[in-house]
Amino acid sequence: MSETQYSTVLVGTGFASSFFLAKHLTHAKASDRILVLERGARDSHKWQVEHRAASSTPVHPTFRKEGDPSKDWVFTLGFGGGSNCWWACTPRMLPNDFRMHSLYGVGRDWPVSYDELEPWYQTAEEMMAIAGPNDGSPYPRSKPYVQPAHKLSDPDKILKRAYPNHVFSQPTARASKPMRGRGMCCANGVCTVCPANAKFTIDNGLRHIYADPRVTVRLGASVESLEYAGNTVNGVRFSEAGNSQRVSADLVVLGANAIFNPLIMMRSGLADPLLGKRLHEQLSVLVDVDLDGVDNFQGSTVITSLSYMFYDGDHRRERAACMIEGWNKPTLMRPENGKWRQSARYKLIFEDLPDDGNCVKLDPSSPNRPILYFKGHSDYAHRSIDVLESQIVSKFLRALPVERIYYNKAIASTEAHIIGTTVMGNSAKDSVIDRGLAHHHLRNLLVLGSGAFPTCSPANPSLTISALSLWAASRLSSSTT
Ligand SMILES: Cc1cc2nc3c(=O)[nH]c(=O)nc-3n(C[C@H](O)[C@H](O)[C@H](O)COP(=O)(O)OP(=O)(O)OC[C@H]3O[C@@H](n4cnc5c(N)ncnc54)[C@H](O)[C@@H]3O)c2cc1C
Ligand code: SF4
Repeated sequence: MSETQYSTVLVGTGFASSFFLAKHLTHAKASDRILVLERGARDSHKWQVEHRAASSTPVHPTFRKEGDPSKDWVFTLGFGGGSNCWWACTPRMLPNDFRMHSLYGVGRDWPVSYDELEPWYQTAEEMMAIAGPNDGSPYPRSKPYVQPAHKLSDPDKILKRAYPNHVFSQPTARASKPMRGRGMCCANGVCTVCPANAKFTIDNGLRHIYADPRVTVRLGASVESLEYAGNTVNGVRFSEAGNSQRVSADLVVLGANAIFNPLIMMRSGLADPLLGKRLHEQLSVLVDVDLDGVDNFQGSTVITSLSYMFYDGDHRRERAACMIEGWNKPTLMRPENGKWRQSARYKLIFEDLPDDGNCVKLDPSSPNRPILYFKGHSDYAHRSIDVLESQIVSKFLRALPVERIYYNKAIASTEAHIIGTTVMGNSAKDSVIDRGLAHHHLRNLLVLGSGAFPTCSPANPSLTISALSLWAASRLSSSTT
């Protein structure tokens, strides 16, 4: 092989790329050469803690917003991508989330089922050493969690007694005991940079894959476009220190997130009907509660519980599912003497339905800088916000002794999840990639990440992104062996 010829070129070093690479290396040949192109820098955990920053690589101005001015999109550039800044909440999606259209007549079905993904959820959870409940689960599991569940707070325990099948300790990659060089989570709630190195990151959990002799990592290498002939990608163009470079590979894998994957594809002249479309994410509102005589904050991590009673069911024909996080962040205490621990915060997270009109667009006058157009969340999601007090919070809080409820009806500007711009499906007519995450037309191009998701569900996406990458890499190995 020449210096510019590789067996695989992988773009990005976040969850999508790293879980793919971890599995890919298990079946790659000793002679294979894998090039990883990462546009950002590699900042150590020490650097991040000292600078209170997840990365030294600036995010702005890498995109421009149009449409709803209150909508934000957040992510981290640099080695490890969003694993540096994430809060490590790792619920799986529910089996019914994969069948929204068949069951509820809205959204789309995924071309992959929960049962097909289950072994890869399990593997991803083992790789991240997830702490989670082994005394019940909202979804079927083939094996127990690796780490014991985090301790619930007293209000969580009251809710759990009232709704035993709907309230669970939150599965999380924030360690409940020291493991694999990670510290134990101490519930201080500054997870964007974890001083205890307790949450899983690519750096503390998968660093070894980037030290594999078959792998070369080039930092500061920003991929711009792909070259192709017929149904094969034959070149990857990137810029490094201001110089334009080209490499070629038998397999090209994009893991640059749901903004930059479609941008690279659009800059390459690809024009799949849904490319860049269906940009969406979940939406959330906060509800704060003064408790009457019940102390809080006994939990062992920042978010201790997940409640599912308003998640799945027939209401999803009309309005969005809701998943409720119970927060255990000590800064949320009350000021009144004798009552300072008698408060609770709940974050209600709603799914949204994608709309083809919301999209990542190429700006011909500034091709490095995509436009993110978002006109607003769907009526489907708003119908659930409309019944927040009457149908959701009033029923949820019935089990707790409540003194006062504070509704913050402002929808958060972002959930920090970017979803749906390279959607997966069974046909090139209504999707960009197939169920193995391969482009329908360019068969040696894989497009990883949450851009593939046909619908978002209320669940945080990174565990599903990781499971999908493992699944895609495993399918590749079975088709080449
Ligand atoms: C504050 C915050 C908290 C979050 N908390 C959670 C949570 O608790 N649970 C959860 O599930 N999710 C959470 N997320 C979301 C999570 O970070 C993303 O879902 C996840 O990082 C997406 O993984 P990815 O690998 O697809 O993309 P990314 O992690 O964004 O990685 C993309 C990689 O590609 C690189 N790249 C981009 N463009 C190029 C290019 N042109 N050339 C070369 N390289 C490129 C980037 O530098 C980066 O390394 C959170 C996000 C934020 C911002
Ligand atoms: S709560 Fe604190 S210790 Fe736990 S993951 Fe977050 S920052 Fe780290």
